[in-house]
Amino acid sequence: MKKISKPKIAIVGLTSCEGCQFVMLDQGNKFLNWLKKVDLEEFRLIEDGDVKSKDQTYDICFVEGNPITKENIKMLKEMRDKSKLLVVLGNCAALGGVWELKNYHTKTKAIRAVYKKAKVANPDIKEVDNFVKVDLTIPGCPTTGSEFMEIANQLLLGKIPRLAQSPVCNECQTNGYECLLQKGEVCLGPITLGGCNAVCLKSKQACWGCRGLFEGAKVENLMKHLNKEFTKDEIYRVMEVFGARDSIMEELEKEEKPKKKYK
Ligand code: SF4
Ligand code: SF4
Ligand code: SF4
Repeated sequence: MKKISKPKIAIVGLTSCEGCQFVMLDQGNKFLNWLKKVDLEEFRLIEDGDVKSKDQTYDICFVEGNPITKENIKMLKEMRDKSKLLVVLGNCAALGGVWELKNYHTKTKAIRAVYKKAKVANPDIKEVDNFVKVDLTIPGCPTTGSEFMEIANQLLLGKIPRLAQSPVCNECQTNGYECLLQKGEVCLGPITLGGCNAVCLKSKQACWGCRGLFEGAKVENLMKHLNKEFTKDEIYRVMEVFGARDSIMEELEKEEKPKKKYK
């Protein structure tokens, strides 16, 4: 990607809690200084009220949230068509987020219990990359503010950064936190992409995998250990919170396949 002197930026939310957008505002002056270098065309949280022409295009579009509704999907596709670079922000967009919990359960029963007789759309939850091409993912629930700023600045230099691929365990142990997996809790730190500084472990909360798998994660090794110590329900309960279960299962299948070939 070429460096652009004042790129046109859109920051949009699909179905989400808007937490990843608030992470930007939490960065205070760092974010305000970044804004001085761009033309911010779309950002609902600091809306200027201008009506955009339908021919408006963007250099970079940041998309938060999951495309659950028809309106979400339409908006996502439009933003993709209008943007040179599409960056997804956070777990909802990248992994399905907490919304994906219902994919793993009897969703019709759940919907009936919640909405009684009302007829509501109840689509399967799918990540953004099922609908459009994604150029870069900034992981987390929410995203990490310092990581967002680092990436946002790199993008202005015309670079698409590659996130360092290492597990949460590295940061956990560097910080000297107690290992909860060894203490008998389900912790996904060994297979989850680091970069959050093991923030949950700091509060003695196991890693539930909100940043997704890192490249080269040895899923099978962790599963062997977890299967010895915990029931399937206990393992799935943790894997499902941030929508990591399907990607973990897919990876496990990939790791198992080559061995089956030689049986
Ligand atoms: S990833 Fe988490 S913080 Fe970000 S929008 Fe989704 S639920 Fe909110
Ligand atoms: S507590 Fe979790 S993240 Fe920390 S070292 Fe143990 S398994 Fe890894
Ligand atoms: S420790 Fe795990 S669950 Fe917590 S923020 Fe980091 S990746 Fe997400």
